[in-house]
Amino acid sequence: MKMFKRLAAQTALALVCFSAAAQDKIAETYRDATARIIAEATSPATAANAWNRLAELTDKYPARLSGSTNLEGAILWAADQMKRDGLAKVRVEKVMVPHWVRGQESGAIVRPYPQPLALVALGGSVGTAGVEAEVLVVKSFDELDARAAEVKGKIVVYNVVYDEAADPIVAYRQGTQYRGSGASRAAKHGAVAALVRSVGPIGHRTPHTGGMRYADDAAKIPTAALAAEDAEKLQRMQDRGDRTTVRLVLGAQILPDAESGNVIAELPGREQPDEVVLIGAHLDSWDLASGAMDDGGGVVAMWEALRVIKRLGLQPRRTIRLVLFTNEENGGRGGLAYRDKYKEQLAKHVLAMESDSGVLPIRGYDFAGTDKARAVMAQIAGLLAPLGGTAIGDRFDGADVMPIIAAGNVPAFAPDIDMHRYFFLHHTPADTVDKIVPAELARVAASMAAVAYIVADMPGTLDRAPVKVTQ
Ligand SMILES: [Zn+2]
Repeated sequence: MKMFKRLAAQTALALVCFSAAAQDKIAETYRDATARIIAEATSPATAANAWNRLAELTDKYPARLSGSTNLEGAILWAADQMKRDGLAKVRVEKVMVPHWVRGQESGAIVRPYPQPLALVALGGSVGTAGVEAEVLVVKSFDELDARAAEVKGKIVVYNVVYDEAADPIVAYRQGTQYRGSGASRAAKHGAVAALVRSVGPIGHRTPHTGGMRYADDAAKIPTAALAAEDAEKLQRMQDRGDRTTVRLVLGAQILPDAESGNVIAELPGREQPDEVVLIGAHLDSWDLASGAMDDGGGVVAMWEALRVIKRLGLQPRRTIRLVLFTNEENGGRGGLAYRDKYKEQLAKHVLAMESDSGVLPIRGYDFAGTDKARAVMAQIAGLLAPLGGTAIGDRFDGADVMPIIAAGNVPAFAPDIDMHRYFFLHHTPADTVDKIVPAELARVAASMAAVAYIVADMPGTLDRAPVKVTQ
């Protein structure tokens, strides 16, 4: 999970859609099939099987950062397993991805109270053989700008507190502004490096990595995420009047783009195989994590959804296409490559679904599309009460399918997950499979299976309209 964008439907163009009477019948028509899907997907045997698959993925291929041999190993492993599952049209479609490597790194307070700091380079940062300077701790961009005269030659530390009382995604977005552009904002005032307090609640002094981007009009200075506890300590030292000097060494390097791929498998439709319900998640992860929650859980949930539908002998009218995207974390090239390759077919993508918010309790769902289509999705969601909440919000968040939606006016759907536990683990070495609860993973898989099946099978397709991506 990386970014958040909202889609707002514009001018409704009624294409193929339902009559009001047909809409009312969706829930009734699919009540039994949904119950069967939920029973199968959430049975203890299926839940254990899905969890074991996630354990195998993350034990064998942790640290699936773009350009790594682990990511490519995971891609081949997933394609091989999908063939063994008997899924159709299994393939890996080539995508060129950025290749950033971390290297050796360290940080420490050198004066006046020498001690190591817990920090990790942010993905995309340039390296440094060693930069040593006094720190200036600020709590916001406003404070940075107000103290601009003090910044030159310093290491800027952004001590931006993650608001644990807020909705986790809101707190996360607040912090990622600093992670994303903090280095360039500091560099414009003459900083020599930037440290960003980890975006996440105070945990176990575990810094969270994540993506950053340099602005074109600022010097590229090294930048790292600092454990929240260490950011607080530097703040206290500054508040006591200490002039603290920090030394930072980052072995980070940007190498030439590497070859990777999206892994695809299908359950072909029985009547309109050229019409597609896309279900996706991303197979890559950050290098420090095993990527169980982000996003191995999403991968296995979507994959399991397809397996459950197949195992029950349900063959929907339209095709369900599983896409395991590459390079969500530091480039989004998998989503872009899919959009370009299937440009001519996007008009026949009837729904795009993505799971990249963790496999945790389901609060409800988010949908991007017209009100008419939303009414149909609300009926479908109403069948999912045994799995958690059923409300449908409009905060659809899915970095991989966003380019597809924008290019093809494709309606989009995602589970709305309670992310409180997610951000303790996100982008850290603590993101491991033991944190995943089999029953929670199974409930996400069940919900995705039911929605994919119904939308792929129902008599008409969802209403769609040109969409505008807003933020
Ligand atoms: Zn993710």
